[in-house]
Amino acid sequence: MQGVNMCPECGVPEYITSEHLWQESGFIVQKRDQRHILTFIENDNLNALFLGVEDILGTSIERIILATRRRTGRAYMDRIIPKQVKELVQRRELELPPMVTTFFSIGSVLGYGRFELVDYRYQQDDDDYFVIRVEKPYSMLLGSVDPAAAVEALIGAEMGFTYEEISPEVYDIRVFKEEHEEEYKGRLMMKHYQSGGGDVALRSCSTCGGPHALSYYDWDLERGLINNKFNGRRMVFFAPSVLDAVFGELERELGESIPDIVIEAQRRFARNFYNPADVVDEDRFRTALALRGMGNLRRLSIDRGGLDLLLGNAVMHLLVVGLFQGFYEIAHGVESTVEWSISESGDLEVQVSPSRL
Ligand SMILES: [Zn+2]
Repeated sequence: MQGVNMCPECGVPEYITSEHLWQESGFIVQKRDQRHILTFIENDNLNALFLGVEDILGTSIERIILATRRRTGRAYMDRIIPKQVKELVQRRELELPPMVTTFFSIGSVLGYGRFELVDYRYQQDDDDYFVIRVEKPYSMLLGSVDPAAAVEALIGAEMGFTYEEISPEVYDIRVFKEEHEEEYKGRLMMKHYQSGGGDVALRSCSTCGGPHALSYYDWDLERGLINNKFNGRRMVFFAPSVLDAVFGELERELGESIPDIVIEAQRRFARNFYNPADVVDEDRFRTALALRGMGNLRRLSIDRGGLDLLLGNAVMHLLVVGLFQGFYEIAHGVESTVEWSISESGDLEVQVSPSRL
């Protein structure tokens, strides 16, 4: 893909390592505004988690996911696009297609699939529209709302969208002017993560300074795919605040059982997706969690008698609880129970014990 430089040593797009920072805290932060954090996670996890929660709840959570993702997507793009560029676009002094193509190349390096602007009208009235084709979106739900969020950030107006599958895994997304539902205004609050410091020491690429372990992944920029070179699993960069806000809103609407449901959905995902070879030692888990921006592993022991974990600066802690409960069960082939707590400062403690039959 044009315009994206790759590090000659580790093969990672420069955008990834120049716009983001892997901190000793175990966070991945957006360099332009370090209050905003990202995770680098298995794409199947996102989709399986949403489906798993819907399955257990017996109800769709789509509208909450869409409203939340649109808000965070717009905020992310707002920080990326310089103010002068937005002003030029909104005064119609800058052609839209090259700008939009730049966005799409960002989506591509983040692993979101291949996007293409196939048609648009921008006259700054209510008939404006954009048709964006996406191939292999990382999630149909999230992949359809992202272009709408990017257009919103660029032209500074609220947009709605529809999508249509035109061939297998290829969708046309039509984005048009539409006021957002009042329902969520002033809600869907984003959690702000506060770093408590840390001692994560990821080995760096000596050329670009990014984490060396990113060289285990292959960026297919033409198709917008990031795949693990060893097991083929697809990865994406994703804002954890989306999941936190979705689960927070579900808890407000549906009650306090939501954390248990999320943990259970994640445990089921982990048991289906991973295998015993994925249950590695403490050091490798420390690197894996930090590379994913999920926190600073301080303590981990797993044996037949149970699992004990302390994760500083825990990100998406409900997922971590379900994930490690799943890892314990995979490693020892038993059912289990889990107890956990998280402190104000983000220290997550998890204890998994074998179920007594
Ligand atoms: Zn590099």
